Amino acid sequence: MKSFANTVNGRAVSSVNGFESKNPATGEVLGLVPNSSAEQVAQAVAAARAAQPGWAARPDAERKALMMKVAEVIKGSAEYLAEWVTREQGKPLGGVGPDQVPGARFELWGCEVWTQVPASLDLPVDVVFEDATRRDEVHRKPFGVIAAIAPWNWPLLIAIWQIIPSIRAGNTVVIKPSEYTSIGTLELVRLMAEALPPGVINTVSGGGEVGGFLVENADVDKIMFTGSGATGARIAAAAAKNLTPTTMELGGNDAAIVLPDADPKAMAMGLFWGAFLNMGQTCACAKRLYVPESLHDAVVAELKALAEAMPMGNGMDAGIAMGPIQNRMQYDKVVSLVEQAKAGGATIVCGGKPEEGPGYFYPLTLVTNIADGAALVDQEQFGPVLPIIKYKDVESAIASANRLDAGLGASVWSADIEQAKAVASRIQAGTVWINQHGAIHPMVPFGGVKGSGWGVEFGTDGLKAVTQPQVISIKK
Ligand code: NAD
Repeated sequence: MKSFANTVNGRAVSSVNGFESKNPATGEVLGLVPNSSAEQVAQAVAAARAAQPGWAARPDAERKALMMKVAEVIKGSAEYLAEWVTREQGKPLGGVGPDQVPGARFELWGCEVWTQVPASLDLPVDVVFEDATRRDEVHRKPFGVIAAIAPWNWPLLIAIWQIIPSIRAGNTVVIKPSEYTSIGTLELVRLMAEALPPGVINTVSGGGEVGGFLVENADVDKIMFTGSGATGARIAAAAAKNLTPTTMELGGNDAAIVLPDADPKAMAMGLFWGAFLNMGQTCACAKRLYVPESLHDAVVAELKALAEAMPMGNGMDAGIAMGPIQNRMQYDKVVSLVEQAKAGGATIVCGGKPEEGPGYFYPLTLVTNIADGAALVDQEQFGPVLPIIKYKDVESAIASANRLDAGLGASVWSADIEQAKAVASRIQAGTVWINQHGAIHPMVPFGGVKGSGWGVEFGTDGLKAVTQPQVISIKK
């Protein structure tokens, strides 16, 4: 079995202990991943610390050029890395472009774009005050060493979101991939690191314990975390001991509200992918759908037709639109939530029964006759199941959207943009999309409120989040 290695200070580092990475579609063992020791984590942080001043001191144009080289490396290795994403995470290879399934090739295309865009952004000196007596400038300085902890759903794209703005701003990075999807990230960073000075990007693989070694390290200057709220709370507690600042991109339970004037046919495809992108294993997927009584049956019929038409299987095979759920824990959670809904009297419109055979396959499932308070509505399912809840008036739908301690995304669907905007502004979420859901963009800030976390990524605001302001105040 092939063993993979971490990258620390530009060198391959293996560990005495390792663990297997498995293909969720087949159960096949894909390779052996090093389980980093506490000492190895400390060495990786030390390497990042040593490399940081030199990296930050480089002329801006030089750092930008190196990052554009990194984008070329990603492009050149896209097929190799996409295959790792499919084998390890499960999403189909798919294609790139408007008519293609947004799968692993789409993820790699995203990695390239989310590298090019921050590489081309600047944070110029901001003169915040000036008169005859004084001039006050705000400069942006890197934090130093950034610790990044990533989840398994979009393993390479989320790693890129954490790494690229950080190094663009002059920080160095130590990233711990999810234990479920380590190989793709180890390979991505290995290839990227070849284009960068040693120590600028480093990896430490392992489970939660290894993540703990990293976030508890007093030499880490900022933590970027993407994952569940429960883990976020543990990391925030660890960070508090050293007063380490954090960005928390946590789970969501996005509401999608269809207004009574919406056209079920016109919005069906957008709504479908808004809910089922990556088998629903996306932080900002629509996870509960609120529809007016008048449109309920038409919306359900449109979504059912799409759900039943999507071929599911091993993502390495051609023509597959949906892969497996990524891991056993998530699969069991989905099964349990659907079984609880059934026991509570909900209607299973399609799906609802686990598939036979190897792999964590679960059919796309629509659930009706369900209400707020049911576990499937109130908890983040993070899987291929959408509860559809009837509402009587828009006020009650807004109240439903806001009643949970989650606020990552939400969406409003309507033919009348002004009306949709009026509803959107009353929803407690970091982003409210109108007539689309989950439509993130590298120039547009993205982040949650309430239990979905704090801080933003992407665009100029995302770049600011990996820097600290320094005021230079000049007496005239
Ligand atoms: P998770 O919280 O179980 O794990 C995330 C990462 O944290 C993994 O790398 C894990 O090893 C690490 N970890 C676990 N315990 C740790 C500890 N004590 N200290 C340090 N690190 C530790 O999350 P997951 O199951 O990988 O991902 C699914 C969750 O992530 C969902 O809730 C989803 O909504 C959320 N998510 C959020 C966003 C976002 O941008 N807001 C994006 C993707 C996923």
